[in-house]
Amino acid sequence: MTVQRIGRFLAGAALAALLAGCGDSAQKQVLETDANGFQCEACKAKFYTDADTFANHCPQCKQPQVQQVVGFVCPADQHVTVAPRSRGSVRCEKCGKPVSGLCIPKAKDLQAWGAARKTAAEVGSP
Ligand SMILES: [Zn+2]
Ligand SMILES: [Zn+2]
Repeated sequence: MTVQRIGRFLAGAALAALLAGCGDSAQKQVLETDANGFQCEACKAKFYTDADTFANHCPQCKQPQVQQVVGFVCPADQHVTVAPRSRGSVRCEKCGKPVSGLCIPKAKDLQAWGAARKTAAEVGSP
């Protein structure tokens, strides 16, 4: 996603509200996002790539069932829980409360989650 497109996205108040609470300011957080996080559904491998790379397959088992992950923000302690976007209800991994906000995890969030950095070649990105 280009910076220009992100800027247009931020014009929408709905997304801005959705992203509020993840980091200093929603806009800063999005513009500084430097990675894409993924989890493999087949072998549960956690990994991340550069922001402009999207995984086509798992770097470990080579299966195509990779889920992009997002950050879920806890309303109580602002802890960011990283999980696949498709998961239904997510609870804070720190305090167990249901999370309310969504944010884009950065490389450091993904590292804390246990993801390993992979190159475009390793994840089958063209
Ligand atoms: Zn895998
Ligand atoms: Zn919490």
